[in-house]
Amino acid sequence: MIDIDKYLEQLKSPRLQLAISIQTRLITYIREFLLEASFKEILPVIISPVTDPLTDYRVRGEVECYGFKYQITKSMIFHKQLALHTAPRIFCFSPNVRIETADRQNTGRHLIEFVQLDLEIRQANREEIIKLGEGLFSTVISRIKQDAWADLKTIKRELPYFEPPFKKITYEQAVKTYGQNFELKLSEELSEPAWLIDFPLEEREFYDRQDETRPGTLVDMDLIYPGGYGEALSGGEREYELEKIKSRIRLKGIDLDSYDLYLKLAERGLYPSAGFGFGLERLTRFVCGFQDIADVRLFAKKPGVYGL
Ligand code: ASP
Ligand code: MG
Repeated sequence: MIDIDKYLEQLKSPRLQLAISIQTRLITYIREFLLEASFKEILPVIISPVTDPLTDYRVRGEVECYGFKYQITKSMIFHKQLALHTAPRIFCFSPNVRIETADRQNTGRHLIEFVQLDLEIRQANREEIIKLGEGLFSTVISRIKQDAWADLKTIKRELPYFEPPFKKITYEQAVKTYGQNFELKLSEELSEPAWLIDFPLEEREFYDRQDETRPGTLVDMDLIYPGGYGEALSGGEREYELEKIKSRIRLKGIDLDSYDLYLKLAERGLYPSAGFGFGLERLTRFVCGFQDIADVRLFAKKPGVYGL
């Protein structure tokens, strides 16, 4: 059950107030940066017949309307690809619901409902997306340091400036150095953000594009925060050709029928593209230097915990 007194105390806490004021600035900087770079902002999709499979999250959030089954958005990946028919560069502050297992309750960085900055660019390759991500991240950090220095001082957060280009580490190197659960160990050792690239095919969803010259390796990436804050964003180039998409879906053991509508649209042509999804609460947590992501999120819902 929810402890109402504790709940109200959290809502009124100066720590949360400060985080929300920082987050308001971060959203503004992101939007300004992307509008300046000729992006169009699209509105989020919350229910749809198709969403990101993200097969890690076993529970499917479903709602039935008028006898039709909709899924609650895990990510807007397919809508991003489709939105490129409308505009060549798009972004969205998109709510995602990922029903994580309860053992992730106290990681400090998992919420079952969160918002990510989702963006996608027609005809882009990974290198361009990496450049854009570095530019966006370093600009946002340098602006928040300048504008919110008093707030950052209150919470004793000393943020450095980060100068792109950021280092790149392959998945293979990361596993060799830190073992299978490398993400946090790598993040703890970093003093600047770094790109983790070239995930093996079986580690990711079917929409990340396979490198034709290196079968089994994807043209994708994560950005990892320094200081032990873990993953900032995930993205990559996308599969856009019907037969390749189908064979990747099959390889995952997923029934083609469940992507029927998406496949019909893909058959009519998708643009080659690349993009990423960048967790907003995690960015705010990193900027504030807080341990617990619930301290930057109103109405936080942690895995396994009942929330409002
Ligand atoms: N769909 C990915 C995710 O939400 C992000 C992306 O590749 O754009 O994790
Ligand atoms: Mg990810």
